Amino acid sequence: MKTPERAAFDALPHPTIVVVGGGFAGLELIKRLSGKPFKVILLDKNNYHCFQPLLYQVATGSLGADNIAHPFRRTVGPMPNVIFRMAEVLRIDALNNQVHTDHGSFTYDHLVLATGTVTNFFGNQRIAREAMQLKSINQALDIRSDFLQEFEAAIYLEDEHAQRQRLNFVIVGGGPSGVELAGALAEIRKTILKHEYREVESQRMQIHLVDSGNEVLGNFSPKSRAAALKFLHELGVHVKLNMLVTDYDGDTVTFKDGSTMPSTTVIWTAGVKGAPVPGLEPALEERPARLRTDAFNRVEGTANIYALGDLALDRSDPLWPKGHPQVAPAAIQQAAHLALNLLRKPGEQWVPFKYRDKGSMATIGRYKAVVDLGRLKFGGPIAWFLWLFVHLMSIVGFRSRVMVLTHWAWKYLSWKNTIRLIIRPYVRKVDMVGGESGG
Ligand SMILES: Cc1cc2nc3c(=O)[nH]c(=O)nc-3n(C[C@H](O)[C@H](O)[C@H](O)COP(=O)(O)OP(=O)(O)OC[C@H]3O[C@@H](n4cnc5c(N)ncnc54)[C@H](O)[C@@H]3O)c2cc1C
Repeated sequence: MKTPERAAFDALPHPTIVVVGGGFAGLELIKRLSGKPFKVILLDKNNYHCFQPLLYQVATGSLGADNIAHPFRRTVGPMPNVIFRMAEVLRIDALNNQVHTDHGSFTYDHLVLATGTVTNFFGNQRIAREAMQLKSINQALDIRSDFLQEFEAAIYLEDEHAQRQRLNFVIVGGGPSGVELAGALAEIRKTILKHEYREVESQRMQIHLVDSGNEVLGNFSPKSRAAALKFLHELGVHVKLNMLVTDYDGDTVTFKDGSTMPSTTVIWTAGVKGAPVPGLEPALEERPARLRTDAFNRVEGTANIYALGDLALDRSDPLWPKGHPQVAPAAIQQAAHLALNLLRKPGEQWVPFKYRDKGSMATIGRYKAVVDLGRLKFGGPIAWFLWLFVHLMSIVGFRSRVMVLTHWAWKYLSWKNTIRLIIRPYVRKVDMVGGESGG
C-alpha cells in the first residue's frame, strides 16, 4: 500500500522528469525544480552526492568519507515533487521514453542525463587494472588504505631497494587532482612519516608527479603554473614533464623513452571520459565519450532528452569551441539554466546557455595555492585561504561543512592528518612482503 506522500506524488498532474545522476548538475537541477510543476525522479547508483574536489583529502586522511558525501534522501526529503531511487541506469529507450535500470524501468516525459565521467586510461588495459584511481569515495579510501599499508609494510623490509619501491608514489597527470594529491602526500612525508614511522628513513618516500605535457596545471595562467611548480619543488615532489607512461605492471612503471621506475603505487589522474548510458549512440562523440548537445542542453537528434555537466559536449558557444570545461561550475550553471528553460511557459522562447567562467584554483599544500580570477592571478597564503573558504562554502550540507571546518582546524593547528585508519584494507593482487595478501 502506498504512503499518503507517495500517493500524493503519483497524483501530481505534472509531466515527469527523470534525472540520471545526482552530481553537481543533477543536484542543482532537482533543487531548482523543487516545488515546481514537474514530477521529478532522481536516479543514482549511489545513495549520496559526492563532492569530488575534496576526494584527494579523503585519500590522504585529512577528511572522512562522510564529510564530503551527502545522502540524496536528506536533500529530497523536504521536496514533495521529487523522489529518489537508488538505481544504476543501464539503457535508454528513447523511442518509448523509458530508462531501464537494475531495479526496473522508469517512464519519462523529459530525461536529463548527468552521469559525469570515468577515468580515461586511453585504452591501456594493463594500466587500468594495476593503477589506482581518484574518481569515487571507494577509490579515495583505497588510496588512503594503500599508502598507510605501504608505510606499515616498509617497516618490515630490511632491503633498501624494496623499501624505496614501496615508498615510491607515482602520480600520473599534472592537472589539479594530480598536483593536489602530490602536494598532500609530500606533506604526509614531512609530518606523519617522519614523526610516526620513525623506523623508516622518511627520505626513502619519494613522490613523482608525471605528465606527458611540458607543464603542470595546463589550464591555468603561466604565472599560476610557475607558482605551482615552485611549490611542488619546495615540497620535494619530483615533477617529471614530457614523460609519457606507456605501461605499468604493478611493480614497474615504463615510460615512452624506454626508462622505467619501480613503484607499487601508481595513481592515475591523467584524464577522464564521459560515462554515457547506452542508447543514444548517434549523439555520442567517441573520443571524449560525451553526448553532443545544442545550446539548450538538448541531446543531438532528440526532442526531450538533455545532457548536463561533464557528460555534455556543447560546441555552440564561440568562446568554447571544444565544449565547456569539465568543472563543477559549468555543471551547476547548465543545470540552473536548463531549469529556467524547462519552466518557461508553452510558446515562450528558450534562451541559449552561456558559460560564465568564474576562474580556477588549486592548492598544493599549506599556504601554497594558486588562483586565477579573471585578470587577477595570485599564489601563496591568500590564495590558500580563499581556496579553503570557497571549498568549505561549496560543500553540500551544514553538518558536512561544520565537520570539514573542524577537521581542517585540527589538521592545520596540529600539523597532523586526522584519519589514518586502515579500516577497509586495500587488497593487492600479490603482496611483496607476505605473498598473497589482503593487506
Ligand atoms: C579528484 C577530482 C577533483 C576535482 N576537483 C575539481 C575542482 O577543484 N573544481 C571543479 O570545479 N571541479 C573539479 N572536479 C571536476 C568536477 O567534480 C566535475 O566537473 C563535476 O563533478 C561534474 O558534475 P556532473 O554532475 O557532470 O557529474 P558528477 O558530479 O560526476 O556526477 C555524476 C553522478 O552520476 C551518477 N551516475 C553515473 N553513472 C550512472 C548510471 N549509469 N546510473 C545512475 N547513476 C549514475 C554518479 O553516481 C554520480 O553521482 C574534480 C573532479 C575530480 C574527480
